[in-house]
Amino acid sequence: MTQAGNRSGGSDCQAGHLPVHFSHDLGGEPEFDHFASLAATICGTPTAAVTLIAGDMQWIKGAVGVGREAMPANRSFCAHTVRANRFLSIGDATADDRFRDNPLVTGTDHIRFYAGMPLVIDHEPVGALCVIDTKARDEGLKPEQRQALEMLAAQASLQLQLRRALAERDGAVRELNAVVGQLSWAATHDHLTGVGNRAMLRRTLNGRVGKDAGPFGLLAIDVDHFKQINDSFGHQAGDELLKEIARRLTMALRLEDIVIRLGGDEFAIVLDRVADDATLSQLAERLLAAMRPPFIYEGRALECRITIGGARWPFHSPRADDVVRYADAALYEAKSRGRGIFALFEQEMLATRAQRRLEIDRARHALAAGQVVPFYQPKVDLQHGTILGLEALLRILEPGCSAIMPHAIAAAFDEAEIAQAIGHSMLTQVLRDMRGWLDAGLQFGRVAINVSATEIGDPNYASRLLAALAQHGIAPAMLELEILENVLLDQRSAAVLASVRTLSDAGVRIAFDDFGTGYAALAHLPSFPVDTIKIDQLFVRELDNGANQAIVRALLALAAELGLEAIAEGVETPQQAAQLRALGCTVAQGFLFSKPIPAGDVASKLSRKPRTARRPHARPVTEPRLPSCRAA
Ligand code: C2E
Ligand code: CA
Ligand code: CA
Repeated sequence: MTQAGNRSGGSDCQAGHLPVHFSHDLGGEPEFDHFASLAATICGTPTAAVTLIAGDMQWIKGAVGVGREAMPANRSFCAHTVRANRFLSIGDATADDRFRDNPLVTGTDHIRFYAGMPLVIDHEPVGALCVIDTKARDEGLKPEQRQALEMLAAQASLQLQLRRALAERDGAVRELNAVVGQLSWAATHDHLTGVGNRAMLRRTLNGRVGKDAGPFGLLAIDVDHFKQINDSFGHQAGDELLKEIARRLTMALRLEDIVIRLGGDEFAIVLDRVADDATLSQLAERLLAAMRPPFIYEGRALECRITIGGARWPFHSPRADDVVRYADAALYEAKSRGRGIFALFEQEMLATRAQRRLEIDRARHALAAGQVVPFYQPKVDLQHGTILGLEALLRILEPGCSAIMPHAIAAAFDEAEIAQAIGHSMLTQVLRDMRGWLDAGLQFGRVAINVSATEIGDPNYASRLLAALAQHGIAPAMLELEILENVLLDQRSAAVLASVRTLSDAGVRIAFDDFGTGYAALAHLPSFPVDTIKIDQLFVRELDNGANQAIVRALLALAAELGLEAIAEGVETPQQAAQLRALGCTVAQGFLFSKPIPAGDVASKLSRKPRTARRPHARPVTEPRLPSCRAA
């Protein structure tokens, strides 16, 4: 039943002309054998077949009197029926140029008579129902036979159509299932690291608490100095680091434990079967240990440190939300104790956490509202009372109240992003004020700004600051940075040192703030490019105390020895000023001389005749209120 003269008809039957996207099963089915057998009976032939032409092959879907082997379409009679897309009748194949040389005609199949009716799906011919005889039949089919063949072909077409629809539906369902699977994975997983996400945390917690699946521990984790790594090495490095951390967390834990990335550099872990503090600490310590080796990225070693807070369910609270909050509070505590450690939740931490939240929110709000401004406190020559410079101190001016002091937003100085935003706002305003005073011809000396460890640990800090100075046309030597001495103890000291060196080389003055209160300063002093030490108010406040006097004397001697300037902070009384002078201190700062004042008051302060610091000053000085502020 088939062939195609490879000369004339053959080329017409190539794959391109035939339906190639036949989507259902090409294999034989008994139901189609039934069609074939009916057709053979009705037409009185020994052979009949339901064929499909797909690609360049003919497939037998059902047959009687012939096998089911597929064959090349270029030999197929039915391929001609399909191509013509109408009834085809060949009375004697040996008399037809198209089939005379076809092996099915010349060979043992010995085909002479062929009649085929196309099978059509969606108006597209896909195969044929054919009857075949080894005897020629010049008269062809009788009209009623042909009609019956047509009806059978229509029925077979319907069956094929149904199968295709079912196949497509199954395919669609399979595809849909795959998509649903992907979606549900994506809905509960972090796409960067592949660990669970917030939704997974929620689901896990709800599941455990709901089913009371036994006690569990929750760890809240923060990557130390992630922003700094991102800033110095780029986002790609940051992403790789997060992936590495997720990997190490997962590897260090048991299969039942669930690692979650909450977003940014925050992770959480649900630890299965944790019934006591010791187990929780042990697992947390294991994670800290896993982070100890640096992560090598493109040949560079990146610190991979984390800080961990932990709480337990149901020990700390029967509510999952509480446990999350408590672990977070413990994390805050661990961070404020110096990072790189684990802290277990204690009830008192809640107040600290709430306070920190409040402070950070207040800072955010103040920044957004443009309420963060510098006030200036003079640094005074103890001998003559002349103003040698100013220290810029942050104030928040909310309409209708007295200026809010920096301690009200203390936590914000530790949060990388907000600390930098505050620093940037302060620096810009200070430089603008300095520019204004310079333009007005005022002699204000140097201006000092306070920088947090978070800011100066940023590898771009120095270049940003120098650019800002240049932009305002201000010489670096007119600016001083006040850095807390304990910043040296910070893990970031290498980055801090780099920033400080760059700035110092450029001429910016460096001061150690609150000097004498930390442990690091003395050891580091000689190796640090420092110009000034600021003797902490703690020692100045009780100069009558012999020990304090001894410390101040020692600090002054040390400064003299190293060729540094020394300033005494927090001078409130003439007695203190006198004692300091007697100890050899030449520069001081404190309420005795002036409280911090708004920028607008600086000009009049500078032009006022210096009050001699020797004269006892009876009236206590209070910090000035803004005109708009209520008396508080
Ligand atoms: P600090 O740098 O040691 O600033 C000196 C603090 O002592 C200031 O408090 C100042 O108002 C206060 N003070 C000055 N003279 C006297 C005095 O005679 N007696 C007493 N009792 N206090 C005096 P303030 O303004 O509340 O600032 C507190 C701290 O906040 C600062 O301590 C500084 O570490 C930080 N800070 C202030 N402004 C900024 C800023 O812009 N950025 C950063 N990172 N920190 C800032
Ligand atoms: Ca300071
Ligand atoms: Ca200070």
